[in-house]
Amino acid sequence: MPHPLAQARLTERRGASSGPRRISVLGSTGSIGVNTLDVVQHSTETAEVVALTGMGNVDLLASQARQFKAEIAVTADPAKYADLKEALSGSGVEVAAGPMALEEAASLPADWVMAGIVGIAGLAPTLAAARTGATIALANKECLVCAGEYFLAECSRSGAQIIPVDSEHNAIFQVFESRHHDAIERIILTASGGPFRTWTLEEMAGVTPQSAADHPNWSMGLKISIDSASMFNKALEMIEAQHLFDLPPEAIEVIVHPQSVVHSMVGYADGSVLAQLGSPDMRTAIGYAFAWPYRAHVPVNRLDFAELARLDFEPPDENRFPALRLAREAMATGGTAGAILNGAKEAALDAFIEGRCGFLDIAAIVESTLQTRSNASDANSMEAIIEADRIARTYAAELINRPGKVASA
Ligand code: NAD
Ligand code: MG
Repeated sequence: MPHPLAQARLTERRGASSGPRRISVLGSTGSIGVNTLDVVQHSTETAEVVALTGMGNVDLLASQARQFKAEIAVTADPAKYADLKEALSGSGVEVAAGPMALEEAASLPADWVMAGIVGIAGLAPTLAAARTGATIALANKECLVCAGEYFLAECSRSGAQIIPVDSEHNAIFQVFESRHHDAIERIILTASGGPFRTWTLEEMAGVTPQSAADHPNWSMGLKISIDSASMFNKALEMIEAQHLFDLPPEAIEVIVHPQSVVHSMVGYADGSVLAQLGSPDMRTAIGYAFAWPYRAHVPVNRLDFAELARLDFEPPDENRFPALRLAREAMATGGTAGAILNGAKEAALDAFIEGRCGFLDIAAIVESTLQTRSNASDANSMEAIIEADRIARTYAAELINRPGKVASA
């Protein structure tokens, strides 16, 4: 079966249908979702919006659904059904609620689907969309981190094309010569280093969720911003890249680049390194995914190199940011280790946001969970992946409730 990226390179898009493209945005109320609708609104192409989905922010979801004349609006939270129904009364937009309704909406026929739900909660709806054979603009990284091989196999089976939206993977996709896959020596993921790049461990021990969410360059959702501060975002991206670009773990490097202008690079056998650069604005990656295989105007700030004057690079400090080392361990173990790492990380991140554990505990909880719960068992079914996620969360919760068990606590 062809790899979904190779498939994406080989197939001409839009061949089949001549009418307006039908699109859905999963997680339309989030940072990626709002940016996606902005790109769609500013596009010269008129798209038909099928499904928009959200969770708690039903007012925003309802106003998006009215503005874009969506066929259906779905909140994942069943308790919000009445509010959403009320907010959309008289609009003609169908309303639904709950995880099953979300999956059903994701599987409605569409040509292009933005996967913008955060966390493993995005896996089932994105899989549902992928099984229809739609082009998947993949922002959600947990689909590949937790279920890489399975997710890609389902995409290959249905013919779904993946266009990476995570800025690093989008950058690599733009300069990745898949016809020369054998000549690709390495990919180099850039990392901003987050708000604590120069902080000591002692200083990091006392940080609050607010300060951790304050990313120096990118404006993103709360969880990915805190993951950037702990560098777990980069850890997830290493695993994401391994699956997406079908490379061995040792071919995936990380370099800290505080300006977030070089979005990532590919190194070839002849010594060439190809990079994609741009302002730190997700609308470039989203616009690329929306226009692919063409390029379209996107109203982001243009780089001014004279003003930039310099680009800095430095190696990551794995002592202060153990997440990168843990990602390599998970990649070496394979199987459900990605789901274990992510499940423990999501549980620890929620606990940190709710004030139930410290910032440095996040890595300690993930490390302990990986060491005791990880094995190379196959991640070739949804059941296996969900079970690994459950095991990781249960163990992480034990550690959170008994902090003495965590090395750093
Ligand atoms: P966000 O928190 O701003 O938005 C998340 C969206 O998912 C919202 O629409 C929310 O309502 C919905 N959601 C949350 N929990 C849900 C649940 N349990 N079930 C269904 N829907 C749920 O997050 P974001 O920053 O837009 O990130 C979305 C995804 O894209 C993440 O996986 C993130 O890692 C990835 N990503 C984001 C950026 C960025 O710039 N924001 C960049 C690269 C990758
Ligand atoms: Mg990224």
